This record gives sequence, C-alpha cells and structure tokens, in this order.
Amino acid sequence: MKPLGFCERCGKFEGSCKCGRGRIVINGKKRELVSKFLSGLLRHFPHSFGLKVDEEGWARLEDVERIVRERHGVGRREIELIAEFDPKGRFEIRDGRIRARYGHSIKVEVDWSEGSDIPSVLYHGTHPKNVESILKEGLRPMRRREVHLSETIGDAIEVGRRYHPNPAVLAIDAEKMLKDGLKVRKKGKVYTTDYVPPEYIKRII
Ligand SMILES: [Zn+2]
Repeated sequence: MKPLGFCERCGKFEGSCKCGRGRIVINGKKRELVSKFLSGLLRHFPHSFGLKVDEEGWARLEDVERIVRERHGVGRREIELIAEFDPKGRFEIRDGRIRARYGHSIKVEVDWSEGSDIPSVLYHGTHPKNVESILKEGLRPMRRREVHLSETIGDAIEVGRRYHPNPAVLAIDAEKMLKDGLKVRKKGKVYTTDYVPPEYIKRII
C-alpha cells in the first residue's frame, strides 16, 4: 500500500503530497499491517482484545486507539488516515467512534449491503472542474441515462482519465443511499443510479 501523510499546505495525502513538503505519517508496510489488524479487530475478534462493539458495529475510538497503540505503536492520526484512505471504504469514523462498514463475522446489524450486493461505498471519477457543481447539485447523468459508479477508487480513476489526466474522485455513500430508499443497481462491473444527492458525496481525490 502507499504511505499516508500530512502536509501543512495540502492536508492529508496518500503517496506523496503535491507541494512535496508533506511528512509521511505511516509507511506503506505499516499501513497494510495496521489496516489488516483494524479490520480484524472490528469485524472478527473485538472480544479477544476486550473491545466493546455495539449492535451497529461501533466501538469507541479511544478504546481502539489504545489497543492499536499497544500492539502496533501507532495512534489516532494513523487510524484516521487509514480509515479515510482505505481503498475499499472499510472503515467509518463518526462522533468519536469507529466501525467496519461491512464484512463482519461477529453479529452486528451494519450489513445492509449483504444480499443486495451493493458495496457500502462507491466511487465516481470526473473532471476536476465538475466537482464544485456536483457537490452543490448532486451527481446527474450527463450524456447517459444513468449515473455510473465504480466499485474501486482505481476503477473510478480509470473512468475519470477519459476526461482529465488527473481526475477528481468522489466517494458515494451507497449504504446510506440504500438505507434512505434510493436505488443503486449492479450492472456487471459498474453500478448505476438515477441521481446522487449532494449529501451522499464526498471528494476524496
Ligand atoms: Zn504538500
């Protein structure tokens, strides 16, 4: 995996920051290790570490931080970066809590995507100049009938490259869309929807 870091000017980044002055917070190897551990901890073995996970999969971030620090020597900043840049959108941090979005073996009620086959987070690559209006007005189909969404950030970048060499990538909270009654369809490798309101969209690249 690529390293994650922070820059005073560019903010959080994956790989290297644009201005080149950013500092690496966690290297790629460590990131992979901690990601795996975090995913196992929240999905499969919280009890082995005395971690309390509620029925929606949430654990207190400070508890998770303590466990991760003891085991891997990294803290809140690393966890937040790992969660935010996770290529599969596995983690969610909200109000001082953290959870895995899907893939649990412990009994939780977070698996909305189960059965419907729709990942909790989908991605959309686009020309950077479109981002502002999309974040304001939502994602509408352009020349197509439907909005096309990708399963991975890599796929979204590939799609976006048709429009710009360095496309912007938007993360779409498909889990919340489904929960709120909006439709997302799986069509082979792509996912489609009629319209994505701005509240479900976040720019990640
Ligand atoms: Zn920078």
